[in-house]
Amino acid sequence: MDKNTIDNDVRTIIDAETARVFAPRPGECLACYVFRQLGEFGCNGTHRFAESFRDRTAPRATALLARLSSMGAGCCDCEMFFNAFTFAAKPWITSMPFGELIGTPFGSEEAIDMRERFGIDETPSTTLYLCCRLVRRGSTQACGNWARIRRW
Ligand SMILES: [Zn+2]
Ligand SMILES: [Zn+2]
Repeated sequence: MDKNTIDNDVRTIIDAETARVFAPRPGECLACYVFRQLGEFGCNGTHRFAESFRDRTAPRATALLARLSSMGAGCCDCEMFFNAFTFAAKPWITSMPFGELIGTPFGSEEAIDMRERFGIDETPSTTLYLCCRLVRRGSTQACGNWARIRRW
């Protein structure tokens, strides 16, 4: 194996890993997906995650960005969680180990907020995960974890 072959193999592995990391999980909704990606990679001032969700699961939802814009999230992904969506009364938050597979971990500060807000009184050292309640394929709606913020 020469060096180029190795480089190519490594690149293939990295590409596959990137594709896996960026891919929405089966049935995962737009809001949970974007929330998960922002937690991992942060916002870069664009709609890269909303667009990647649309391209991978709902390519016919061509009006998605216009709709987000009308909800106050016209500039970037993180605005969705300032202007458009907040947690519903009972989002599915778990500290069970399966959360690591299907959920999004909260950071330690966020987890403190979540414990207070939703009255979760498990061992404070356990990681909390937000698990999507799932939507049908092709939908760009948020699942029951989320409520719309209505300012008007
Ligand atoms: Zn942003
Ligand atoms: Zn969801």
